[in-house]
Amino acid sequence: SDHRLDYPVSPAHMDWASHYPAFVDPDPSKTNLSGARKLTREVEVVDIGCGFGGLLVGLAPLLPDTLMVGMEIRVSVLDYVRSRISALRLQQQNLKAIAAGNSTGQPSDTPAMPDVEDDEIGSTTTIVPGNYENITGIRANTMKFLPNFFAHHQLSKIFVCFPDPHFKARKHKARIISESLNAEYAYVLRPGGLLYTITDVEEYYHWVLRHFKYENEDGENGENGAEQTDAPTGGIRDLWELVSDEELEADPCVQVMKFETEESKKVTRNKGNKYVAVFRRKADPEWP
Ligand code: SAM
Repeated sequence: SDHRLDYPVSPAHMDWASHYPAFVDPDPSKTNLSGARKLTREVEVVDIGCGFGGLLVGLAPLLPDTLMVGMEIRVSVLDYVRSRISALRLQQQNLKAIAAGNSTGQPSDTPAMPDVEDDEIGSTTTIVPGNYENITGIRANTMKFLPNFFAHHQLSKIFVCFPDPHFKARKHKARIISESLNAEYAYVLRPGGLLYTITDVEEYYHWVLRHFKYENEDGENGENGAEQTDAPTGGIRDLWELVSDEELEADPCVQVMKFETEESKKVTRNKGNKYVAVFRRKADPEWP
């Protein structure tokens, strides 16, 4: 339960150095409030409820200079993600050593790859940009501690892929898209940043649109939709704008979200539908 979750007192206390050793600032005098070494850049992308890490692994070579973190509440699943990333990093180091001609194979102390099917871990036999040094996973309940990890406007992208549907009405409060959580997402996302969602549950898709004020209870356009010009100014409803289908088609992250997460693969196998909605964080409203 939560009391066993480890979370920083504030973003300035978070030790990211152990997660991204390749991005630690070479100046050892640069430390954060907990004494941990600082990085050369900030973590910018978060996968909420990352599951087995397929999105991170798919995005890693696509955004090699961007630090990304998956947050997952289940211990065993997070352990798997961490060992998967360690194995991928090691494999990259070995491939580079082989390419440089100073090794003929894996050193004997290489840990075993996680016990997964080849197609689950993806094609990793080539040297990829970023060498998977830019991804990590942490255990967290994102419904409670997100602002402990990330400062105001720190993030450029948040992903919510195939969130647990919690079908029953009395369980809806466990959904990770909600009015209060959207306010937290708006706090940590920078203006222009994107919040990506995908689900195979049509009802959840409409729930998402409703909670970003793009639909009302009757499924009609909501305050952020066609009638937005009539909406009152200020307040959370004005912080999001729905991204167009044309823009989504041109965004490679959407392809990763649709086809690389473990849940997306399951939905593809079962020939299910995938409903995508992406929202752009607008500039903060001006105070009167
Ligand atoms: N995003 C992954 C994918 O697309 O393959 C996993 C989808 S799975 C249906 C939902 C995941 O969210 C589960 O792994 C679950 O443990 C995690 N999760 C649910 N609530 C969470 C919370 N409050 N904080 C962190 N992770 C959570």
